Amino acid sequence: MRAEPVYEIYAIRYAHHDRRASENFISGDPHDLPQPLDYFVWAIVGAGSCIVVDTGFDDAMARKRNRTVVKPVGEGLKAIGIDPDAVESVIVTHLHYDHCGNYELFPRARYHLQDGEMDYATGRCMCHSHLRVPFEVEDVTAMVRKVFAGRVTFHNGESEVVPGVTVHKIGGHSRGLQCVRVRTQRGPVVLASDASHLYQHFEEKRVFPIVYNVGDVLEGYATLNKLALDRKHIVPGHDPLVLERYPARPGFKGWIARLDVDPEEPS
Ligand SMILES: [Zn+2]
Ligand SMILES: [Zn+2]
Repeated sequence: MRAEPVYEIYAIRYAHHDRRASENFISGDPHDLPQPLDYFVWAIVGAGSCIVVDTGFDDAMARKRNRTVVKPVGEGLKAIGIDPDAVESVIVTHLHYDHCGNYELFPRARYHLQDGEMDYATGRCMCHSHLRVPFEVEDVTAMVRKVFAGRVTFHNGESEVVPGVTVHKIGGHSRGLQCVRVRTQRGPVVLASDASHLYQHFEEKRVFPIVYNVGDVLEGYATLNKLALDRKHIVPGHDPLVLERYPARPGFKGWIARLDVDPEEPS
């Protein structure tokens, strides 16, 4: 019998935003110190395949949204030997502007998305300017075009993308947000994406201000915990600490970290 595949996972930082802690939590933060966000895409490599999780945004979007691209997404992927032209699978955790831009970067890829996210991003909720804030019509339209080109696989709830890589609907932050669970040499690792922007969100059960349903965000933390062996196996979506706790890919400190090996945690 063949061994079940395990995968390497890389967090690739592409952008940054300086902000204060009060901007990262509903009800603000009593200390309100600087608490920047990093922006990542992730690459899952193994069993002869490469799956990219989320596609980031480009320079034009960074200018529009007042963010800073530190290294373009394509450059980060190439740095670890991944040719975007050859990528066949892209998991889009949700359709917020920082997760689904660069939509021409993967011309051969099939995209994996939850039903609920496409419904949300194209339905009646987008009549409300408050809910539209994290979406860009061009990003959503690009995904609709991919549907019509036969390049999208929809999932509803829990689903396997390839053996050992599964998606799990979380909702909450965005109605069809999904996280990704990956079998690795250290057990299953859960890429939370925006199911937990920072470690503090799932550890302290606090909520990021951009939200569709607060109850589902909080339930989502329980789901993350259930899918991972322990908190060391949960990787938040925007936390600069990820690059401090996980070992850097040699030569790429502050840019690319390896997630399928144990992190160093503060004692
Ligand atoms: Zn988001
Ligand atoms: Zn995000």
